[in-house]
Amino acid sequence: MNKKTIRDIDLKGKRVLVRCDFNVPMDENQNITDNRRIVAALPTIKYLIEQECKIVLCSHLGRPKGEFKKEFSLAPVAAELSKQLGQEVLMATDVIGENAKTLAENLKPGQVMLIENVRFHKEETENDPEFAKQLANFGEVFVNDAFGTAHRAHASTEGVSHYLPAVSGFLIEKELKFLGDALENPERPFISILGGSKVSDKIGVIDSLLEKVDELLIGGGMSYTFYKALGYSVGNSICEDDKIDLAKELMEKAKAKNVKMLLPIDNKLGKEFSANTETMVVDRESIPDGWEGLDIGPKTIELYTEELKKAKTVIWNGTVGVAEFDLFAEGTNSLAKVLSELDATTIIGGGDTAAAVQKAGLADKMTHVSTGGGASLEFLEGKKLPGIECLMDK
Ligand code: AMP
Repeated sequence: MNKKTIRDIDLKGKRVLVRCDFNVPMDENQNITDNRRIVAALPTIKYLIEQECKIVLCSHLGRPKGEFKKEFSLAPVAAELSKQLGQEVLMATDVIGENAKTLAENLKPGQVMLIENVRFHKEETENDPEFAKQLANFGEVFVNDAFGTAHRAHASTEGVSHYLPAVSGFLIEKELKFLGDALENPERPFISILGGSKVSDKIGVIDSLLEKVDELLIGGGMSYTFYKALGYSVGNSICEDDKIDLAKELMEKAKAKNVKMLLPIDNKLGKEFSANTETMVVDRESIPDGWEGLDIGPKTIELYTEELKKAKTVIWNGTVGVAEFDLFAEGTNSLAKVLSELDATTIIGGGDTAAAVQKAGLADKMTHVSTGGGASLEFLEGKKLPGIECLMDK
């Protein structure tokens, strides 16, 4: 990576503002249901503690839309972080108010505090310069380690870099290393699995990956727009009629680039979009009216498995079925299992795919599971991420 990291500057004893991605899922009682994003932030925080920094952490959580709402408080994160670090993390009751300022002024070397959810101020998402300046007052250096929000130019991800020297933490460094190396220097064959609900969400990434991969395996809801482009009927399957021409163009581009682009050859259908519905498996030519394609079928699993066995690099973004329902998770789980057993670099884009791989208990068997859904997608599309562009060059 050509951006400076916390290893590249002298941080000894400095006051440091760190943007983390603590946007963790919680249940209705504010219990954290998945702490992976907190765990992923630990290496950077521990390093700053070793450097005897005075550490002010910030993050967003959910979408409180510019006002204080208790259910979006980061207090449960401070508690979990204290547990993970084995030292107290002080929790401020406000963002840039008196409480946060007083706590920050009284920090001792190696102490850690967390300010409240930056999205309690609407100025955060507006990237308001004055709000960014107030945040910047917490540090002498800004460390961005929030990969999950690096695709947003918000006050705490980009705005603060106008007032402070800005470097990346270890998580962003790691994400860029795995995603970047795979794209720039993949060991071949390089295969990408793309799923998810809509073609429209994935146009950019399909277009960009067609320049890089040897093979594209398509699954999920977007398959049916391609099916329609090929003249198959799709029943009630999710399909974007206004993207049919685009689907044709993408298939032509694949041909022109000599990229093998495969679509599911069979599907598991549901009578309804529901976790407990009647199901049947049919070949792709035979989707009847009144049924909806909700997973890839067994023949497709077999076909994709054979293709993936040849791969030396795999990037996967988007589940190949409605993996939230056990009934339609078989395709996604089977491919996750195949990937977990490959002798290859295996990279899972964040979001639903990461959640599915985690649920299958296979996350540890992958080379890298990204912590950023939208951010990894934009990175794969070849877009510049504002939260990374703003960091100092090496
Ligand atoms: P994405 O957010 O683009 O990664 O896509 C993941 C979402 O796509 C999940 O919520 C899946 O339930 C959904 N999805 C996958 N396959 C289908 C399908 N065949 N029909 C409808 N939704 C699907």
